[in-house]
Order: sequence, then C-alpha cells, then structure tokens
Amino acid sequence: MPESDEVSPKRFIADVMLGKLTRWLRILGYDVAYDPHCDDEALVQRAVAEGRILLTKDRRLIERWRRRLRHTGHLLIQSDRWTEQLQQVVTTFQLDHQNNRLTRCPLCNGVLTTIDREQVRYKVPFFVYSQHQRFARCSDCGKIYWAGTHYDRVQETLRKVLG
Ligand SMILES: [Zn+2]
Repeated sequence: MPESDEVSPKRFIADVMLGKLTRWLRILGYDVAYDPHCDDEALVQRAVAEGRILLTKDRRLIERWRRRLRHTGHLLIQSDRWTEQLQQVVTTFQLDHQNNRLTRCPLCNGVLTTIDREQVRYKVPFFVYSQHQRFARCSDCGKIYWAGTHYDRVQETLRKVLG
C-alpha cells in the first residue's frame, strides 16, 4: 500500500441499518456516505468507486460481493447497539476520537466551515448568539453549529462510550 494511503483519513459507506452509527462517526469527523434508499448493488458500487470502506450488518451482502470489495475493505458490524458498533469501528480501524471539533455535519456528511459571528446573528436564537463566539455552517445543508450545551453532552457521551 502506498504511503499516502496510510495517512489519508479513512472514508466509509454504511448500510441502511447503521444510521445512528453513521451520525456518530461524522461527529468524530469521518466522511461517511449513507443513503437509506440505496440497494445492495448500488451500495457496493459506490464503495468501490469512491474507495470507501463498507460498514454493514448484512453478512450475506459481504459474502455475495466479497470479490468486488477486496480492495475497498469492509467490516461486518456485530452489535445491534450503536455504542458497541462505534467501539467496534473505532477499534478495528484505530480511528482518532480525541480531536473531534465540529468538522462534519452529522445529518448530511457535509463539511463544516467556520463562519463569521455576525452572519448568524438572525439565524440562531439570541441567547445562542450572545453566549457563543464560534460558529460553523454545513457547506451542503446550511445548518449552523456551535459548541453549546448539546455539544458538551455529545462530548460527554463520546467519553463514556470510547473512554
Ligand atoms: Zn449538513
């Protein structure tokens, strides 16, 4: 494997069963494609075309498409609980879970970019605007994020789940 592949962050694609896992991996900053309307073949095709590791709960899917997936990588997710799913993915691929700083939209996978505080003045509740200095916006869906109490709860949950 070329050295450049070692350092580039891993990208994933998740099957329809893994919506919650998808959101938590995005919170950690990872690029995770997810389309609940995608059939198995389209899922595999996209994984191969975009060099994404396939995350699936479907053992038969992996068995059926094993040859096509051999260069892309795949992981059979064992648990039905998202906390254990996240632990499995983080452990298997040795993902960095310490430096999650609002970089990717959990809802749509878009990249978050920092925006000027004045730009959000009339787009967020006033108490949010007045209490926070740093804001980010999703480049795809436009949702605005800030490191508020919800963000603190998310961090706390991640600490509990991943240690
Ligand atoms: Zn978004």
